[in-house]
Amino acid sequence: MDKVKYVEHTLTTKSFLPYGKFINFMGEISELCEEVMYINFNGKDREVLMALPAKGVLDCCPLCKGKIHDGSVVVITDSHSLFPCWECEQLVEQETVGDETHE
Ligand SMILES: [Zn+2]
Repeated sequence: MDKVKYVEHTLTTKSFLPYGKFINFMGEISELCEEVMYINFNGKDREVLMALPAKGVLDCCPLCKGKIHDGSVVVITDSHSLFPCWECEQLVEQETVGDETHE
């Protein structure tokens, strides 16, 4: 019997639940940042640092201009942010532009 240790973890907007919860690759409801989590971005696994309430970060969805739902979150990793929009069902990924990259 094949034991698949690493399941392809394809995140969709449906993976994210209100107020910092998400459905992990085992199909269980889990809390963001409760355990170490990585999200693939630009071909590399990025470590999730925190999840912020999207209402404090965004006025509307950058893609569809849809409203920010109560409980929706922006996930911050070491190199990008990810906002699952429940209006347009897209993951809005934005590279973090930090001052540290400027020398
Ligand atoms: Zn949207």
